[in-house]
Amino acid sequence: MEQELQNLENEAKEQLAELSTVDQLEEFRIRFLGRKGHFTTAMRQLGSVAKEDRPRLGQLANRLKNEVEKLFEIKHTSLKAASQTSRQDGVMPDLTLPGRWSAPGKLHPVTQVMNEACAIFEQLGFSVAEGPDVETDHYNFEALNIPAHHPARDMHDTFYISDSILLRTHTSPMQARVMEVQQPPLRLIAPGKVYRCDSDITHTPMFQQVEGFLVDKDVSFADLKGILTVFIRQMFEKDLSLRFRPSFFPFTEPSAEVDIACVMCDGAGCRICQKTGWLEILGSGMIDPEVFKMVGYDPEVYSGFAFGLGIERIAMLKYGIDDIRLFYENDQRFLSQF
Ligand SMILES: [Zn+2]
Repeated sequence: MEQELQNLENEAKEQLAELSTVDQLEEFRIRFLGRKGHFTTAMRQLGSVAKEDRPRLGQLANRLKNEVEKLFEIKHTSLKAASQTSRQDGVMPDLTLPGRWSAPGKLHPVTQVMNEACAIFEQLGFSVAEGPDVETDHYNFEALNIPAHHPARDMHDTFYISDSILLRTHTSPMQARVMEVQQPPLRLIAPGKVYRCDSDITHTPMFQQVEGFLVDKDVSFADLKGILTVFIRQMFEKDLSLRFRPSFFPFTEPSAEVDIACVMCDGAGCRICQKTGWLEILGSGMIDPEVFKMVGYDPEVYSGFAFGLGIERIAMLKYGIDDIRLFYENDQRFLSQF
C-alpha cells in the first residue's frame, strides 16, 4: 500500500511536469485530485488495510496528496501567467477587454416623427405625394381659394422670390396639383418642408408639415374625425381625447382646429397647456366646393376633407421639448438623445 501511494505521487509529479495548457491541467486535476480521482480512490482503500497500519498510511496519503496539490497550484499560476503574456504579445487577443465603441449615426428626431406619421397614414390607405419647395403663387394660394388681397395671406408671412414665385408656406399646393391630373377617389398625404418668415421658441423659418386629403363620394366630417383620432392615438401611443373647434381656412368649409388632451397632464391642466388641459395640434376641414370647382370636380358629386399638421409641433409634444429651435441647432448632445 505504501509503495502504491508512493508510485501514485511519482506518476502525478511526472505528468504534471509535462502539462503545457490550462485545459490539460484541469483534466489532470480531475484525474488525480477530483472526487473520483486516484488519490480519493487510494484513501478509500485504507479501510481494508490492517488496523495498526491505518493511521500511518492515512497520514502518508494526506501528505502526498497535499504535495501534489501544491505543485498543481504552482503549475496553474505559471500556466495562467504564460497565457496572459502570450496574449499581450499579440498571439491571442484578450476577449475579456471591453470593445472599441463607435457611435452609429441616427435619424434626426424630426425625420423620425415624420417617418412615423407617414407610416401611420400609409397604414390607413394614404399614399405619399411630394412636390416642389419653390412654388407658384397660383398653387400656393389661388388654387386653394386664397386670391390676391385675401386677408388669409397675411397669416402666411411668405418668402417671395418674385411676384408669382415663392417658397411654399404649406404643403397644401399638392392638393391642387394632384386634383388637376387625377380623378377621385383620392387619398393622399403630402409631407415636406415649408417656409414662413417667422422665428421664436415655437416658430422656425423652415419647418416640416404633413398635409393630407381624401376625396370621394359621400365623405363626411365623421370620416375626418375618425382618421385624425386613429392618427393621434397611434402617434402618441395614448387614448387621447380630441376636440374640434370651429375655425376658418379659405380652402375648407366648415373648418376646425383640432386640440388633443394635454399629453403632459392628461387634461388635468399644467404649465404646458396653460391650465386648459388642451393642446392645439392641427387644422382641418371639409374641402371647400370652390376648390373643387377650380380643378373641375363636381362639388355635388364629390366631397372630401383636408388636414395639415406640423411635425416639429408633434415631436415637441411627444418628447417634451419646449424650444423648437433645438431641432435646428444641431447640438450633438441634444440630438443623440433620440
Ligand atoms: Zn397640461
